[in-house]
Amino acid sequence: MEINKLVRPNILALKPYSSARSEFKGQADVFLDANENPFETGLNRYPDPLQWAVKERISKIKQVPQEQIFLGNGSDEVIDLLIRIFCEPGQDEILILPPTYGMYKVSADIANVAIKRVSLTPDFQPDPAAILKATGPHTKILFLCSPNNPTGNTFKAERIQAILDKFPGIVAIDEAYIDFSDQASWTHQLAHHPNLVVMQTFSKAWGLAGIRLGMAFANAPIIQLLNKVKPPYNVNQLTQKAALQALEKEDQQAAWVMEILKGRSALKEQLAAFPFVEHIFPSSANFLLVRVQNPNELYQFLIEKGIIVRNRSKVRLCEGCLRITVGQEQENQNLLTALQQYASIPT
Ligand SMILES: *Cc1c(COP(=O)(O)O)cnc(C)c1O
Repeated sequence: MEINKLVRPNILALKPYSSARSEFKGQADVFLDANENPFETGLNRYPDPLQWAVKERISKIKQVPQEQIFLGNGSDEVIDLLIRIFCEPGQDEILILPPTYGMYKVSADIANVAIKRVSLTPDFQPDPAAILKATGPHTKILFLCSPNNPTGNTFKAERIQAILDKFPGIVAIDEAYIDFSDQASWTHQLAHHPNLVVMQTFSKAWGLAGIRLGMAFANAPIIQLLNKVKPPYNVNQLTQKAALQALEKEDQQAAWVMEILKGRSALKEQLAAFPFVEHIFPSSANFLLVRVQNPNELYQFLIEKGIIVRNRSKVRLCEGCLRITVGQEQENQNLLTALQQYASIPT
């Protein structure tokens, strides 16, 4: 597949901003090229625009070569950049599979890029035939979220493979929750698919939503396009430092994930015992989608108890559902105590 044929002509022609730090990369003693303040604050210098130290660690952990890694100001920046690279406003479109993450639509709306929707099946799986049927010459990007938010399930590998084998545009697989799943990442398929982009994030399993750091994995031509369009210093020095520190403590991340998975199965079991809980959907993420009898009433009741969950009851295919993030043991316990109080209210 010829990736450049999918790219907006103005982006292909773009001469990117050349920063001081990208024009001179060697070792030197005196840097008088970037109009920085010379007095040492620990943060007086511009950060590495391509974040090589962070990428080196990520490369080892994810088993993906450094030149196939892009880092963004959250994966939300990656979503926005992909749309601006590939979709001509007022002409091209993205394809999304609702119910799914809301940012694909918001980023497309901001860019004045149309949105085509192919609903997931009632068991929350993508329908490859329907997706391909809905795809036209202007369908540039398919956003596919697995494990999916807000449903929590992983898409069947055969379905994703069938889509990857035929979809003529960019296939962006959002793996924000991959660390909570027992399925392999699609990063291992990059060699076979020049149009594949896999997105991951430091916001969930790594416990670093506050630093805003997202990852994209793709073959070098797509990574080069992302680098060309991004703001020169899109990942700041503090973020790069915090990420490096976290990447040194991989076992902490693994311990958190274990704890959250334990919490998820305990919570699932205990929620199932409540008479007002109708269904708990299978989850490969750090949350549970739960269908309850009176979602709005329960949602309000929990707010009054100081417990906030996400009300997804108006979302198609998620009717009646609340999305509950797995918390610390005590937080899960507080939720269960509140639910016992709710269950004991006479009707
Ligand atoms: C939480 C989440 C993200 C994370 O976005 P960041 O900008 O990296 O914080 C991405 N995709 C999905 C589906 C999510 O639920």
